[in-house]
Amino acid sequence: MESSRRIFFKIAGLSALGLSTKPVLDAFAKEQAQDTLPEPQTQKGAEALIARQWAMVIDTRKFNSAEDMVPLIKACHKIHNVPKFENKRHEIKWIWEEEYHNAFPMKASKFISEKVEHTPFLVLCNHCENPPCVRACPTKATFKRESDGIVLMDFHRCIGCRFCMAACPFGARSFNFRDPRPFITKINKQFPTRMKGVVEKCNFCAERLAVGQMPACVEASNGALMFGDLYDPESEVRKLIKTNYTIRRKQALGTDPAVYYIV
Ligand code: SF4
Ligand code: SF4
Ligand code: SF4
Repeated sequence: MESSRRIFFKIAGLSALGLSTKPVLDAFAKEQAQDTLPEPQTQKGAEALIARQWAMVIDTRKFNSAEDMVPLIKACHKIHNVPKFENKRHEIKWIWEEEYHNAFPMKASKFISEKVEHTPFLVLCNHCENPPCVRACPTKATFKRESDGIVLMDFHRCIGCRFCMAACPFGARSFNFRDPRPFITKINKQFPTRMKGVVEKCNFCAERLAVGQMPACVEASNGALMFGDLYDPESEVRKLIKTNYTIRRKQALGTDPAVYYIV
């Protein structure tokens, strides 16, 4: 973290002078490369789940109220050590519910049906195929894993500049304004906790896929969420996308979200 901050000030200084920051970033990436970039690790006896691009399909017809979403949100936040802050401004969210006009502002209309208008929608990081957050990150703390398209975060590299938050048009990232650890109900020792000054977000349960498990929210959803390979025509997600009308968030921005909603 200290080294990250040093680099940040170097980058800021070079940028202010109008000089190239590439050599500094390359040196930093090299320095950090050994122990920071998480690649799928298979546990003994378990086979990692693989895909060219992981994608999620959310069948919104299977949710009647926000209550139905609570178990999914809890499942995610519990295993990922997401803290619970009283102060809304400090809130950390990996998956949460949003009203239609917030989730799909480009599709909102004053004549929309009552049901859609008041149905909550589950939202999370879209693991965009063309992610602006990755381009905005000066330290490569945010990166798109080439092997399966998941947009991951390396917390050790994050310098808290929040460029990624400004770049993400979906509000999918949260910033730790305070040390989150005292606000975690029960720490899951199998997953890292974060520290003050670090950004975080949904990781499509990369750590579970690595040991052959589906994402926790998918498992808790009773079939309302499906997860699979977007580029496999035989996958369940592809079949659902082919046979149902689906929408994605803010499609016009060209980020190519990998989360699809059946409406
Ligand atoms: S939803 Fe936001 S944080 Fe997630 S990949 Fe897309 S731009 Fe990045
Ligand atoms: S705050 Fe975001 S942009 Fe800045 S280093 Fe961390 S991940 Fe990268
Ligand atoms: S995919 Fe995993 S990390 Fe993302 S919201 Fe679902 S449970 Fe949380």
